[in-house]
This record gives sequence, structure tokens and C-alpha cells, in this order.
Amino acid sequence: MANAAGQVIVATIGPFGDSPVQVTCPSCHQTGVTKVEFSSGLITYLFCGGLFMCGLVLGCCLIPFCVDRLRDAKHSCSNCKAVLGVYKRL
Ligand SMILES: [Zn+2]
Repeated sequence: MANAAGQVIVATIGPFGDSPVQVTCPSCHQTGVTKVEFSSGLITYLFCGGLFMCGLVLGCCLIPFCVDRLRDAKHSCSNCKAVLGVYKRL
């Protein structure tokens, strides 16, 4: 993701977890709480593969995609939308 200026800032501040944290944005210098979005990360696919290997019915292997705890958390500035960091499960 990039903000309006096409700038991408990844993991310059932290550490990030899977819940919003208060930071001073290096892009717009506003202090605020980050906006967290979840996306499917590597562990989601591993989990999916693992469940599939266990012989569960096909639909069950899609469950990890619905579980936020298994997904990467992307923190972005609530003011300028710059991506401040990504919390990865692995
Ligand atoms: Zn900002």
C-alpha cells in the first residue's frame, strides 16, 4: 500500500501487534492510533494446508481466512493513510 505521495513506510516504528497502537506518524507527524487491517499471510495458508492434510472436509480449510488471529495485521496512519508497519505471524 502507498499513500497519496506514493510513499511506503514499512516497519519503521514498532513493535506492532495485532491491535491498534499509538504512534507519531513519520509521514504527516500526527500522533494517533493506527488503523489495523488484516490480510491473509503465510501462516493462513500453512494452516489451511495443515487442515487439508488432516483430511477435513474441503470447506474447513477455508476457515483460517476468516480468523483475524491468523492473519497479518497492517497498521496504517488514520490521518494520512500511510502504511506504518505490518505485523506478521511468522
Ligand atoms: Zn500520517
